[in-house]
Amino acid sequence: MGMERRRIGRGFTFAVVVALWGVACTQSQPAGSSGDAKETSISTGWIDATATLDPATTPVYAGDAPMKFDFLKDMRKGDGFTLSAYSMGAHSGTHIDAPMHFVRDGASIDRVPLEPLMGPARVIDIPDSVQSINAAELSRHDWKGSPRVLFRTRSSLRHWMTSNTFHRDFAYVAPDAAQLLADAGVKLVGVDYISAEQFAAPAPMTHRILLGKGIPIVEGLFLENVPAGDYDLIVLPIKVGGHEGAPARAILRKRVP
Ligand SMILES: [Zn+2]
Repeated sequence: MGMERRRIGRGFTFAVVVALWGVACTQSQPAGSSGDAKETSISTGWIDATATLDPATTPVYAGDAPMKFDFLKDMRKGDGFTLSAYSMGAHSGTHIDAPMHFVRDGASIDRVPLEPLMGPARVIDIPDSVQSINAAELSRHDWKGSPRVLFRTRSSLRHWMTSNTFHRDFAYVAPDAAQLLADAGVKLVGVDYISAEQFAAPAPMTHRILLGKGIPIVEGLFLENVPAGDYDLIVLPIKVGGHEGAPARAILRKRVP
């Protein structure tokens, strides 16, 4: 397995092209295992809160690198094995922003501690009519005391994480709400579209406030199948050395009170 990284956009760290080559596993599944994700979910209680990375269904932020998934070799076409190459922005699909994204000398994604990425999390329903999750909106919800706060918004209700059309009017966390979350000691903030910041915001204050306190931001969560409530969360990014973000796998399991 090889890996190559290259910057695009001349010093513009936002869009890093991550190319991964993976050899498809050709071994058969062990006896008794099931390939059916739904069955697995029922038996373990874990819900997959990850958007599938697929150029046909994954939204790409305006101006970010395009996604390109290719088969270099394909057994279905007579090759002796199957081999793929992926090219995409580091902030594709469900992903994590590390402090380095907006903080000079901030931690890169491989240096984000595991602790904020695993543990109790609360999913909060934001009504479809709300685009700005500001301090006033936040005060309408019971979020205090939860170490990790995930917002389920119009983006989930409108199925935007499974549409490759980029929508600019996604719900975002306003700076005053970000400040309240940061001041309360929240360890991680998550949203269900590919940015937590208002589109074309005059300054990236929400990112600066959260990342400035070392709070990782999970963006692009797939929360359509996740009702509001308390969960255990595990969200782990690909460990790319020295870069500011990476795609992640996010899973949630309902907490038993
Ligand atoms: Zn991001």
